[in-house]
Formats: sequence, structure tokens, C-alpha cells
Amino acid sequence: MTAWVFIDGEVVPGDRAMIPVFDRGFLYGDSVYEVLRTYRGVPVWLDDHLGRLRTSGERLGFDRFPPLEAVGDAVTRTLRRADAEAATATDWYIRIVVTRGGGPVALAPSLAEAPRLLVLVKELTAPAAALYERGIGLAIVDIVRNPAGALDPAAKSGNYLNNILALRQALARGADEALMCNVDGFVSEGASSNVFVVREGILHTPPTEAGILHGITRSKVLALAKASGMGAVEDDLSPADVRGADEVFISSSVRELMPVTRIDDDVVGDGAPGEATRRLHAAYRAAIEQQVRRSAP
Ligand code: PMP
Repeated sequence: MTAWVFIDGEVVPGDRAMIPVFDRGFLYGDSVYEVLRTYRGVPVWLDDHLGRLRTSGERLGFDRFPPLEAVGDAVTRTLRRADAEAATATDWYIRIVVTRGGGPVALAPSLAEAPRLLVLVKELTAPAAALYERGIGLAIVDIVRNPAGALDPAAKSGNYLNNILALRQALARGADEALMCNVDGFVSEGASSNVFVVREGILHTPPTEAGILHGITRSKVLALAKASGMGAVEDDLSPADVRGADEVFISSSVRELMPVTRIDDDVVGDGAPGEATRRLHAAYRAAIEQQVRRSAP
């Protein structure tokens, strides 16, 4: 795997990037992170991701945080090294991590030393084109999404066990992604994606109050749907609403908009990716293209 990592102020090859075992990110999942990707070398929606990183830190009471300018510079430096040393031009997966830092083996956050910033850049593995043609399968799992009062899903923390357990169950059932419900039984989100349904031409997605990550792709999709004149509403969805929808798709920075054509043993709509999903995905790609052109030197 080709990877470079910014760690402790330096960019090093992935296999030389080491983290002390006393780091709280390792010991407790006491970290926040972001995942984004490049398109033709440009890290798209970087400012949105940096903003959410900071907000995640605030939600978890990180009282010291690297300045966002320094985080942006670390991303630029790591990408520059990756581009310079890659055998062929490629797009990159970018993972930015800020841990609360090292310290004694003790829970109290005040004992943390300085926050640690990592930027991991590796070759992007985008989903196969065939998946967009065929659609994926979701399993509605019985692992409940963490309630906001326990560990707010709006904070993108490095503690991903809730999501890992959900995905583990979905994969065991032969699905590609899990769909979790909240403690009230309404749909929240995927293990690493937000979910949308189309019903009678209107786009629906669970509201932020359902306990979800405020997905950056999700917010772009909602804005694009509204701009196109398609109705778009954030409202509670039951599992039956999702099973009975005309179209379903998930969204994430790496997968963009991925059609869902199976939910457990049910076929969604006519079993093929839907027209509204295709249109929104095309609009999303056009918005990215615009960003890339604007950022090109
Ligand atoms: N929900 C969860 C739990 C996620 O891990 C992700 C992926 N970061 C998303 C939603 C989608 O967020 P985004 O569109 O910002 O990538």
C-alpha cells in the first residue's frame, strides 16, 4: 500500500509512521477525525472537513486543538509528498486525526499532554463503477446508534465500535452496509454513511436530531436537491419507510451517492438504481468538478 503520514511535524512513509502506546487515541479512542478525498489532486470540501473536525473537538471538550491553518498545511504537505513520489498520477484518500495526546494511563482528560495531529494519505480505492450500476444491499441491524446523550454521533470521534459492531452484523448477513436505528426506533444512519430515500419524487433524510453525523455529502445533497426544485425534507423515517421507498441511497465523501437496491430480503423499487438518485449523483459530481476547477492553479 502506498501511503504517507504527517506525524509529529514530519511527513514519513506509511510503514514508518508510529504512535506511542500511551497516546489516548490508541488507549481510549479519545480522538476526532475526518475522511475526505482528492479529485485530480484537489482535496474537495477541505474547509467543511476542517470546520467539522474543530466542532467534533469542541463537542468532546478538547480544550487544546491544533490551529486549523496548521492542519490544512499538514494536509497540503502530505499531499505534496504523495504526489511527488507516486509512480503514476492517482487520487488520494485523506484521513486527518487529532488525538487528545499522550499522558499517564488514566482517564481524566486534564492529564492529556499536547494534542497529536496525524494526516494519513493513501491511494484511494473508490467503489467499483459496477456498484453504482447495480446498487448495494443494506441490512437494518439491531445494534442501536449511540444516543446523543451517551456519545453524540455528531462528533466524529475515533471511537467507532458502535459502527464496527453494526457493520459486522450487516456483513454477516451478506449486506454491504448497515443501517442503524436510534433508541426511539427511527432510522439514524449507516455505519459510515448517511441515508436518503425518495418517495413520490420527494427526498427524505433523517434530521440531525435523529442522532447522526452531520455528513458533508449529506448537506451538499440536500442543497442540490433544493436548488433543483426537488422537495427535500429532513424528517423521521421508520424502517418501514425505508423498505417501502421508491429509491434509497447512502452518501459519504468516498462513496459519494451510492444507490441501495436491496434492504435485507426486500428489493427497493424495481430493483435497479433510481432516476432521482442518478440525477442527484450527477449534480453532486458537477459541484465537485466546479470546486476542482476553482482550486486548480
Ligand atoms: N455517518 C457516519 C457514521 C460516517 O462515518 C460517515 C463517513 N464520514 C458519514 C455519515 C458520511 O459523512 P461525510 O459525507 O461527511 O463523509
